[in-house]
Order: sequence, then C-alpha cells, then structure tokens
Amino acid sequence: MNDSAQILDGLATSQALISTVRGAIEAHVAAGGRRPGLAVVLVGNDPASSIYVRAKRQDCEKAGILARDFDLPAETSEAELLELIDQLNEDPNVDGILVQLPLPKHIEETSVTNRIAWRKDVDGFHAFNVGKLALRQPGLRPCTPRGVMSLLTHHGIKVKGRHAVVVGASNIVGRPMTLELLLQGATVTTSHRFTSDLESLVRQSDILISAIGKRGIIQSEWIPQGCIVVDVGINRGEDGKIAGDIVFESAAQRANWISPVPGGVGPMTRATLMQNTAEAAGLEIDFP
Ligand code: NAD
Repeated sequence: MNDSAQILDGLATSQALISTVRGAIEAHVAAGGRRPGLAVVLVGNDPASSIYVRAKRQDCEKAGILARDFDLPAETSEAELLELIDQLNEDPNVDGILVQLPLPKHIEETSVTNRIAWRKDVDGFHAFNVGKLALRQPGLRPCTPRGVMSLLTHHGIKVKGRHAVVVGASNIVGRPMTLELLLQGATVTTSHRFTSDLESLVRQSDILISAIGKRGIIQSEWIPQGCIVVDVGINRGEDGKIAGDIVFESAAQRANWISPVPGGVGPMTRATLMQNTAEAAGLEIDFP
C-alpha cells in the first residue's frame, strides 16, 4: 500500500507557466512587437463570475497581457452583446476575447461562443476549435483540459497507452478532456450521469479525471492502487470551504499522484488562458 500519493502541484506549475508566458511576451515586446490584449467581457453581476473575472484580470497583469474590461449590465440584450463581439473581432489590438459564462438566461450561450472569431477564441469553446481538437489539428484548446495535460506532463506523467477514465462529459471539461487524452494516445472511457456501473470503470483506470461537480460520487475505495487522480471538481462544503469531487485524504492513500482542490486544476485553467492569449497573438509558448 502507498504511504501517500505525490501531489500534482497546480500552484507551482501554473506559476511556471505564467512566467514562461511573461518571458515570451516581454521578449516579443522588447523586439518591437505589440503587447497581447485580452478583452474580458462580464454580463451582469453574478458574484462567482465577478470573482473569476477579477482573478483573470490579475493573471493578465502577471503575464504581461493588456486586459480590456467590458462590464455590461445584466439586462444587456443578446443583439447588443453580439455587436460588441463583432467590434472586438475586428479590433487589431484585441488578440483574445473571453466572455465569462454563465450568461444571463435570455442570452443563448452557443450563439455567443460561436460568434467570437475562432482565432480570438481563447476559451476554445468555438465549434471550429473543438472540431480541430477532435481532428488532431489542435488550435486554441479549452483551458481546463489543456491545463490538466500540462499539469500531467510537467510532472513527467505520460498518458500514452494508459486507460484514462473521464467522469463528466460537459462541453467545457469532460468532452474536450477526452479529446486531449485521445490526442496523446491514451485509451479513454468517458462516463457521465447515465453511466450504469461507474465503480467498475473507475476500478479499471490508470488515470482518473473527475469533473462531476458533486462530492463523494467516486468512492476512494474504488480507486486502484497506483492510479493517477486528477480532481477537476469544485464544490463548496457546508463549512464554506472549497473541496473537490474526491475525498483527498483517503484517495491519496491509494493513488500514486493526486491533484488537490484548491491548488490543483483551478490555477492551471487560469494560467492556460494566458498561454492561449499569447498564442492567439502569434507567440510560441514552449511549455512544459
Ligand atoms: P457540468 O454540470 O456541466 O457537467 C457535469 C458532468 O458530470 C455531466 O457530464 C454529468 O453527466 C456528470 N455527472 C453528474 N452526476 C454524475 C454521476 N452521478 N455519475 C457520473 N457522472 C455524473 O459541470 P462542468 O462545467 O463540466 O464542471 C464540472 C465540475 O468541474 C464542477 O465542479 C465545476 O465547478 C468544476 N470546474 C472546475 C474548473 C477548474 O478550473 N478547476 C473548470 C471548470 C469546471
């Protein structure tokens, strides 16, 4: 039995990624290049979204990216938002466009994500970019799954030939996570709320990625000895604290590697947005 798993340290890895991005940007600017710009669009004042957006703006400062803020009232119409996106698509000083989700109910999210020019789609949610990932021609890729891959690679973990079980099949995490792992040669099983025997799948995993958003669905005793566990879930407990989908202490007794929450995938997602923005501006980021 393992004493305890090694930690997939998302804080340290994300700091390394941001400083790599910053280095590339400063070299580019010193050589006469234009500093990359990210338009950050927030509609309404959902408290969680406001916190995320503030954090992204701070990340831009750390990475040397110019953040341009667009804080719109909750009653902004879909047509008005699409008009802003059209302007930003045309703006030569804007390399990336981020529209914070979720949007107010009267705005259709797919219309918005697909309106962003795919070359500026730093969230990687545009159908064209997801299609490119599916066809093994990765362009701008969704930040969370890409961040997970960077976290694994940075810790020397190879996925090729291994059985990865992804739990969750959403457009922003589970599905593109499956595509990322497939791209790197893993054998992937994708599971979701309609999967009938999750336990037997988890028991067969070499790599387990949980992106459910519910604590305790995956029981620690299902996790095979030596597994690599990545916990994408963010859940607020009754004590007000943030925790993942997986019970860290007991899972860490079985896993070889495990990502904590907080301090695992979250910071990687944010740092990957900076990487995507620099790449959208035409820079090459060599990481990890
Ligand atoms: P979502 O609600 O869109 O998707 C959840 C997925 O879990 C669905 O595919 C659903 O079928 C599946 N699921 C639900 N119950 C299940 C069950 N009992 N068994 C198996 N599968 C089940 O959520 P999302 O946007 O994909 O996010 C998932 C979690 O990841 C959330 O906690 C979210 O906060 C977190 N998240 C974290 C980051 C990060 O950077 N760390 C980024 C995005 C999302």
